Amino acid sequence: MAVPQRRTSKTRRDKRRTHFKLAVPGMVKCENCGEMKLSHRVCKVCGTYKQREIVQQ
Ligand SMILES: [Zn+2]
Repeated sequence: MAVPQRRTSKTRRDKRRTHFKLAVPGMVKCENCGEMKLSHRVCKVCGTYKQREIVQQ
């Protein structure tokens, strides 16, 4: 089995992890309720899209 010749340094490991993003991309704030939602999708918290298209309830 292949084994790495050198231990990965803390710096190198942490540099690699700078690409790990905290949130899922494409999330925007709902202009109606302020919750995070997927862009170009109806807000599942308040059921609106483009400020007045009420879908649910
Ligand atoms: Zn909303």
